[in-house]
Parts: sequence; structure tokens; C-alpha cells
Amino acid sequence: MIATGGFLPELERFVMIDRRRFLGAAAALPFAYAAGGFVPAWAQNAPNFGTPTLPSPGFRRIKVGDIEVIALIDGIARRPLGEEFVKNAPLAEVRAELASQGLPTEYVDIPFTPFLVVAGNRRILMDTGLGEFGPATTGKLFDNLRAAGFQPADIDTVLITHYHGDHIGGLRNKAGEFVFPKAKVMVPAPEHAFWMDDAKMAAAPEAMKGAFQNVRRVFAQMPADRLVRFEPGIEVVPGIRSVAAYGHTPGHTLYHLRSAGQSFYYVADLTNMPALFARNPDWAVAFDMDAEAARKVRREVFAQIVSENSMMGGFHFPFPAMGRMVARGNGYEFQPVGVA
Ligand SMILES: [Zn+2]
Repeated sequence: MIATGGFLPELERFVMIDRRRFLGAAAALPFAYAAGGFVPAWAQNAPNFGTPTLPSPGFRRIKVGDIEVIALIDGIARRPLGEEFVKNAPLAEVRAELASQGLPTEYVDIPFTPFLVVAGNRRILMDTGLGEFGPATTGKLFDNLRAAGFQPADIDTVLITHYHGDHIGGLRNKAGEFVFPKAKVMVPAPEHAFWMDDAKMAAAPEAMKGAFQNVRRVFAQMPADRLVRFEPGIEVVPGIRSVAAYGHTPGHTLYHLRSAGQSFYYVADLTNMPALFARNPDWAVAFDMDAEAARKVRREVFAQIVSENSMMGGFHFPFPAMGRMVARGNGYEFQPVGVA
């Protein structure tokens, strides 16, 4: 199926042989969804855990000073919980953490939530969701964008945090068309350089090649006047500063909004589901490409957010995926908006 075809049998074989030996194998797992009906090794022979329930409505607005931030859920993937999900903690401990919060222990629900920023006449989308390349419980971004009162042509800028398929998949449809016809696409230069490097693709484990091919599907034909590469640290849009947070991927970048004395961090994949990885910031999710760098920057940024009492949003956080972080024990607890 498009450029991702061909890598999946290798992924399956690779993961079955040794799912822990190479970081790249785990990093490639999100892309298993790119082939639609393919069932990755970790999901084979798993009991049927049912279908996750999508929130309705699938959008939620908050104000950050004079800016409006709108969470737009793209969907939820339900994934059997196995020992590969947290790389450095025993499964029994992971299950105990979930049970202590009243959450299911046999599977995890991983949501995907891009954010729209409405600032004056600007309409800025942060990450895109899976587009037409995920399971049936995903690809809802456009429905939710319209439900919130916007059209794809209203978007003037798409800010990308990193090049995993759940964050860039929605930029282009299966016909190859850009779905935000008027948008500039702003990407962290180190992230772009890593994934577009043919030598790195050639040297990558087979299981990771699909991720490189997906990046080429999205970016290889992108006109030069549409693509803007930037060095993390700069202000990308008035009031929105990019923040380097490398580790999850080589160029993983956050966005920090400020308006009228208020502040909001979009932390992307600084952490996966907070019930596990905010509570235990030293735990490494299977998708972190450099787990130690990811761990360090996770602690730094969470400490910063707490010290500023800033609002925040996370791509894999439970909907509405926006709220505040508070210190708790050796880690943090996410308090969604609407919770006292
Ligand atoms: Zn992600």
C-alpha cells in the first residue's frame, strides 16, 4: 500500500525474532498501522479487547490569554499491553500502576490529539494525526476540525513536532494530495535531516525502513515554497516558540505559546500516556528512539511546566488532552481541564 508496502513482512519477522534488540524496531511499531489490515506481532493471538469509545464532541476549546487552543482528537488505538511497551519496567509493575488508577491492565488505549491554535487571523495546526493511514478508530481530525467550525483550507500553518506517522500521516491523502491546500508546513530541521537521509535509511534495521518510506511519501515531493525548515529554539509564529526536546526522535520539538501573561506547552511525545510515563518519568516507552535523552528532557520540561504552572497539551494524553501537571511522588500527575 503506497510506499509503505513491502516493509511490513520484515517488521513482523523482525519483531518476532527479537523485539528488544534494536531501538529502531520499537520505534517503527506505530507505522504498522500504515498498512490498514496488517496485524503486528504484538497484537497477534491477542484476545479481543473491543473497540475504544471516541469522545463526542471530538473537540475542546480553552483560552490561553488572547489565543484559543482547540484539541481535535484524531482517534484512539487500543493495544494489548505486553512486556515490550515499557522497555525498562517489569510488566507486573506496569499493570500495578494502571490498576492503582482504575485503568484496564490487559490493554492500553492510546489517543492521538492534534491541536489547532486560533490567534488573530492565524489558524495553526500542530501535528496532523494518521490521516487515511491508521486503523478504523482514527482519521477523525477533519470531521472534528469541521465540527469545531473550520475547514482544511483555513489552516495557514502546520507545525510538525516529529516525523512519526501518527504526527505527519494526515498531511497528504492516499491520492497524494496535500489536505491543507493553503498551509505552510514548518518542520524542525534536525528531524527532517535525519529521516530524509538516504544513508540513514539504508543503515536502519529493516523494521524501521517503513518509517523512512512514509516520510518520503509525505515530504519528498513537497514544493520548496510550502516546506519551511527551522532550527528549534526560534519563534516559529508570533507568540509560538519552538523548543528542542530531542530523544523520542532525533529532532523531536515542542511548541510553547504565550499570550497576555498565560502560557501553554504542546509537548507532543515528550511522554506517551501520562498514567504511566508522567507518574514514572524514568520509564521508557517502546517508541523512544534514544530513551536516555528522552528521559532527561522529559524531566526538565515537566519541571519547567510545573514551576510556571503553565497549561499544557499532550498528543497521547487522554482527551481533552489539555490540563496542568502537578508534582506527585517521584513524578507528575496530569490534571485535565475541567478537573479541579
Ligand atoms: Zn506519537
